Amino acid sequence: MSQVLKAAFLGLSHRRDVYRFVMRHDLLRNMAWRYVAGESVEDAIAVAQTLNSQGLRVTLDHLGESVTSATEAAAAADDYLHLLDEIAAAPADANISLKLTQLGLDVDPALAHFNLSRVLERARLHGRRLKLPDDEIFVRIDMESSAYTDRTLSLHAALWDAGARNVGVVLQAALYRTGQDTASALERGVRVRLCKGAYLEPAPVAHPAKSSVDRAYAELAEQLLLHGRYPAFATHDERLIHHIQDIARRERISPDRFELQMLFGIRRDLQLRLARQGYRVRVYVPYGRQWYPYLARRLAERPANVAFFLSAFARESLLSRSARSAGAT
Ligand SMILES: Cc1cc2nc3c(=O)[nH]c(=O)nc-3n(C[C@H](O)[C@H](O)[C@H](O)COP(=O)(O)OP(=O)(O)OC[C@H]3O[C@@H](n4cnc5c(N)ncnc54)[C@H](O)[C@@H]3O)c2cc1C
Repeated sequence: MSQVLKAAFLGLSHRRDVYRFVMRHDLLRNMAWRYVAGESVEDAIAVAQTLNSQGLRVTLDHLGESVTSATEAAAAADDYLHLLDEIAAAPADANISLKLTQLGLDVDPALAHFNLSRVLERARLHGRRLKLPDDEIFVRIDMESSAYTDRTLSLHAALWDAGARNVGVVLQAALYRTGQDTASALERGVRVRLCKGAYLEPAPVAHPAKSSVDRAYAELAEQLLLHGRYPAFATHDERLIHHIQDIARRERISPDRFELQMLFGIRRDLQLRLARQGYRVRVYVPYGRQWYPYLARRLAERPANVAFFLSAFARESLLSRSARSAGAT
């Protein structure tokens, strides 16, 4: 049932009337600030420094996706260069996460490649200056819907083959193909963040039930932990985190050989507890003005959020329909 609600909600979230509804309602806008650090780079750095002071690492995401022109893509890359400058100046213990459609993947893959190369170069430059381990500020390419998986992995492979090492990928346990993608990442020594997958996917490509996604996650996590290069496990699912901890203990894999990653605003108690126990915990901190698609994905993950949202939207739609028909008489 919760999968059906999630699908209905994610489908609805693309409609313009739903977008306008969210923007009109302070309550919903305010829900965004639970998950998003703020609109400016200063907000993001301030949150990163607070989290750092609590023993948590950070990855910063300047929100934005699906740009439709080369100019917008170049501006998004410039924003990331500025973010890297600010991370280095602060300094903050922060990596960055970005989306290729933000850097122009839909316009032209060569454009996204060019923009990402500029970002990687700046990340290396600051990494060397700050004398960070491996001379790098690490750059993670977030994974978008399955329509982008091939193009994202190909672009990463091209950079990797050209010698870039401060860049990693995300694989989604929800997709059937992820077993093969994991095997090829392991073979090449690519750094992987494993997540469940936040997008509404067509039946032929993705596990239909949450329980099978969780099973796939557990299996993939074991492979990455045993054979991967500094894997990152992105989840708030305590059962999966225990599973990862159990394997690490059994195989004598020390906690500095992997990361546990969680989203800003979700399970803060667990983030702090794990960090206190000596695990490396990295918090994904998004910021920026284009927070709506990110908020929609976070709301879709909780049945309670979805039910609340859908009932408010239905109520307002009914009210405005009856107001329109009253006006017509
Ligand atoms: C660091 C990080 C990076 C990510 N990067 C990507 C990416 O690149 N591509 C991608 O497709 N997905 C990404 N995701 C999202 C991921 O795919 C899941 O959609 C999301 O993490 C929820 O799944 P879960 O593993 O926490 O498990 P779930 O079973 O969904 O949740 C486990 C528990 O976590 C809590 N929880 C989960 N979500 C919420 C929420 N929204 N609000 C409040 N509580 C919640 C609840 O207590 C829930 O019971 C990322 C997630 C993280 C943590």
